Amino acid sequence: MPTPSQQAILQEMGYTFWRFRDQGSGSRKQTAEEVAPPVEEASAVPVVEPAPVARPVAAPTVPLEDAPLHNDRAAAIARMGWDELTRAVRECSACALCERRRQAVPGVGDTAADWLFIGEGPGEQEDIKGEPFVGQAGKLLDAMLAAIGLARGHNVYIANAVKCRPENNRTPHAEEMAACRPFLLRQIALLQPKLIVLLGKAAVHSVLDDDQALAKLRRQPLHFGQIPVAVTYHPAYLLRNLPEKARAWEDLCRAKKLVEAG
Ligand code: SF4
Repeated sequence: MPTPSQQAILQEMGYTFWRFRDQGSGSRKQTAEEVAPPVEEASAVPVVEPAPVARPVAAPTVPLEDAPLHNDRAAAIARMGWDELTRAVRECSACALCERRRQAVPGVGDTAADWLFIGEGPGEQEDIKGEPFVGQAGKLLDAMLAAIGLARGHNVYIANAVKCRPENNRTPHAEEMAACRPFLLRQIALLQPKLIVLLGKAAVHSVLDDDQALAKLRRQPLHFGQIPVAVTYHPAYLLRNLPEKARAWEDLCRAKKLVEAG
């Protein structure tokens, strides 16, 4: 069973627990006290239902060196270091999202991180504070990180598909994500993380250029170049769809195994 502190974190994510009626060895019988997904210790192998019969799906592979550099701007961004990149994001006016932002939100975290989490775009709080995932969705993301033994800023970098807030928190348009993609590509190239975790459809679209449903992609072996990619739900979506938290937990456990294997 998770420790009391882990239970608090997982309960914040919306989990309830199974209990073992018989803790003895051998053919232990497990009884569900509540109809809820089983939760093991954060570092343990997750207990998940059998995977569906896998249909072969082409894993998108876009080697970084082959990423499209459509123009001089993209080529220039592809040569930037962290400081120059941050400055360029803050001063950028390459798409219409610059017109209403308070400030651009480049990204935050450990620039030598193994884990790169990519969301959709800044919301109101992020636009005010200049940091990704600082509103309610950010609190849930922090709880998700804690549940797998991670913390913002320690071995974790957090970025978004677009760096400026779309008005009313709408989904960024394809052309906006395309304009911002060189920044994201450069962040990936500078970080060279062990794993990219894509939070939601916009991030999947931006990084993998894939429009399939998340439910289809979640369990697929995906890569960006040589870097493994895990796909799960955006925390803002999870706040509105509590039952999906169980699937997000499964995704995070799978992601943790990928990093440990890397
Ligand atoms: S969203 Fe990206 S491309 Fe558009 S203005 Fe902001 S930083 Fe530039």
